[in-house]
Amino acid sequence: MVARVIDGKAVAARIRERVRQEVMGLPAPPGLATILVGEDPASAVYVRMKREDSAEVGIESFHHEPGGDASQEEIAALIESLNADERVHGILLQLPLPDHLDQDPLIALIDPAKDVDGLTPLSAGLLVQGRREAIAPCTPAGVMELLRETEVDLEGARAVVIGRSILVGKPLAALLLAANATVTHCHSRTRDLASICREADILVAAAGMPGLITGEMVREGATVIDVGTNRVDGKLVGDVEFESARERAGAITPVPGGVGPMTRAMLLVNTLAAARARV
Ligand code: NAD
Repeated sequence: MVARVIDGKAVAARIRERVRQEVMGLPAPPGLATILVGEDPASAVYVRMKREDSAEVGIESFHHEPGGDASQEEIAALIESLNADERVHGILLQLPLPDHLDQDPLIALIDPAKDVDGLTPLSAGLLVQGRREAIAPCTPAGVMELLRETEVDLEGARAVVIGRSILVGKPLAALLLAANATVTHCHSRTRDLASICREADILVAAAGMPGLITGEMVREGATVIDVGTNRVDGKLVGDVEFESARERAGAITPVPGGVGPMTRAMLLVNTLAAARARV
């Protein structure tokens, strides 16, 4: 079998268009505040892309760039002011923060109603409880959209999630569980990853290890979602060895062009939802 390649770019484009249409119907534009602290070049690119995506669908951006030496108190005060700003429906604190800042208390300060990255303890708790009002982090939300597009039957399916970060692995496992999949959660201490993977109807790799998943670890006909984003010899690759996995999978996402565009699109979806919740 040669897998169908899931075109994340095309799915994301459809989602962006839907958001654009819905934004036009709102009495006022949704507002997304972005906070970029420090000089990390990759973060600067991500934030720029998020602002461009927002502009394209009619979401207003409020960008803040405190210097790399900004104190914990200064960032906290900025978050509080954005919490109070009526024009702002979503707040995105770009991670990672410089080493002298303590990230968790800053994330926890974000008003949960404006937590479009889904990272506050309240959002995480609601997600684990399977509550519908929970805002899911953008990458796992994007993975779920891709699975819906692929029309995979999640009901009772065996899903294997590799990676247990609060940004990807843990929320994704919660979403799959809420969708009635039977979830096995793997991580760096998991024994015999290969045989667990071979049981998966749905295999999601989010470890940040190029080549972690090879074709022989993929069950015939499985859906393989590659979240990994790794730079190898200047090239962007996932965690899955694409060519060998493609020989066995039923459907597979490429890197780039799979989960990445979906992550960006879901930020727009979450911002629209936060604005709608306030109308
Ligand atoms: P992380 O480093 O916080 O977590 C990695 C997880 O993988 C850990 O829980 C660890 O236990 C697990 N892991 C590491 N090595 C393993 C191994 N050999 N076997 C099994 N599990 C192993 O990373 P993260 O923030 O969750 O991101 C994971 C990957 O996804 C990275 O490559 C990141 O760049 C990528 N990512 C992509 C997007 C996107 O939009 N495409 C978004 C977020 C993250």
